[in-house]
Amino acid sequence: MNDTPKEPTPKTILGLNNTEWEMVIGLEVHAQIASKSKLFSKASTEFGAEPNTNVDLVDAAMPGMLPVINQFCVQQVVKTGLGFDAKINLYSVFDRKNYFYPDLPQGYQISQLYHPIVGAGEISVDMGSEGIRKVRIDHIHLEQDAGKSLHDMDPDLSFVDLNRVGVALMEIVSLPDIRSPEEAACYILKLRQIMRYLGTCDGNMQNGNLRADVNVSVRQAGSHELGTRCEIKNMNSTRFIQQAIDCEARRQIALLEDGQSVDQETRLFDPSTGMTRSMRSKEEAHDYRYFPCPDLLPLELDSAWIENIAAHLPELPDAKAQRFVSAYGLTPDHAARLTAEPGIADYFESVARNRDGRKVANWIINELFGRLKKEALSIENSPLSPEQMGEIIDLIEKGEVSGTMAKDLIDIVWKVGGSPIKVAAERGLRLLTDPGAIEPIVNQVLAENPQQVERAQVNPRVAGFFVGQVMKMTKGQANPKEVSRLVHQKLGL
Ligand code: ADP
Ligand code: MG
Repeated sequence: MNDTPKEPTPKTILGLNNTEWEMVIGLEVHAQIASKSKLFSKASTEFGAEPNTNVDLVDAAMPGMLPVINQFCVQQVVKTGLGFDAKINLYSVFDRKNYFYPDLPQGYQISQLYHPIVGAGEISVDMGSEGIRKVRIDHIHLEQDAGKSLHDMDPDLSFVDLNRVGVALMEIVSLPDIRSPEEAACYILKLRQIMRYLGTCDGNMQNGNLRADVNVSVRQAGSHELGTRCEIKNMNSTRFIQQAIDCEARRQIALLEDGQSVDQETRLFDPSTGMTRSMRSKEEAHDYRYFPCPDLLPLELDSAWIENIAAHLPELPDAKAQRFVSAYGLTPDHAARLTAEPGIADYFESVARNRDGRKVANWIINELFGRLKKEALSIENSPLSPEQMGEIIDLIEKGEVSGTMAKDLIDIVWKVGGSPIKVAAERGLRLLTDPGAIEPIVNQVLAENPQQVERAQVNPRVAGFFVGQVMKMTKGQANPKEVSRLVHQKLGL
């Protein structure tokens, strides 16, 4: 697991002096644990509550209050570690990180520095045509979040909202294995996908439930040494992360090519300028005077407890995608799209049960996804249920509706609901299948084209001409299979 991953085909940026540079990126991802209560208190974690209403005496750091570890949160981190193929440490310790935090009354953050709960792991990141890249995870530690200072509510005053104080975070720290902005975005999305499958973090970046500190350095292509890095703090959009990495790498290259050096520092990305700017010089671990938190015992886990969690992990996205390829014959691309979220995979499987998986995949990807996207709906809120989708696909399979009719049917059921079979019957969306109705039209077409009939005797492919004519005369309402059968029969082919 800890072998150095194969270096990717170098993706380099050309500097001003025609020197090729390579980006080196490592991410510290903060993922909020999906838990109803906080890491060390029983206060609620509900998003969007009135400011300062989800604050327990522990969170407010009232004198004499003691933190009590939330077992559910511990279980969620362990699950996440197992999902990332990582080592679970049976012994971990909480440390105090001391700092002046205006929005954390304790005056220190409870985190884990020397003995984190999860050790080395690895994530496979699918980079499309560039193949699979492996990104190693150094460790995951458990820590508490701080509150929020509000500076834009009053011209003279700052306010503080402590609702977020003490909410459990997993900090997922990667090794500097990432080599491009796209790879950084794909890596974060992969972490998010796995955690959503596990149910350990909802991955909502807008609400700040998943955010990243992005470490960037550059080095001349071919070099194996690490350059000096800058860290861009607290980013919660994959688009901005990519922009920030790109502009930060170019800034560092320009400095180095100018004979200057990069200062290790913490920077902020400003979306309005698309640039990063210096926030403060980088502090080191010793600046925080870390020491083991005397209020908490070391965390000692029982291996049987971990094995039990491992035994109940859900099927994860990579395994599911592989199964979709082997069990339903999907292309890897379709399998990847249909496993993007657990809800999508469940939808697909409930339609594909006892049906042709490839056809079901096509209808979901080509017809359902676009409609959902247009109305910004999640698959859980799809107006077209798996049952309705299945019924429509059955109607096509039985030759009762054409592909075009099926699309109309989706549009109608989308708006009015109901059983597609009934809706099709009510609206006359039904292919003409009755031979008694099709036969006179076939006869008419044959009679009107005696020369083509003669040609068809020599060249059976001319039969297609008659099928086309019948379809035209019925305005696409006839079942093409039935038309073809009748044409061949009449021509004696
Ligand atoms: P901290 O930032 O808290 O001091 P670390 O030194 O452990 O912690 O590094 C944090 C992150 O920075 C890790 O994700 C690591 O991969 C990344 N990193 C370390 N050195 C470099 C470098 N030279 N270039 C890019 N990323 C780096
Ligand atoms: Mg850092």
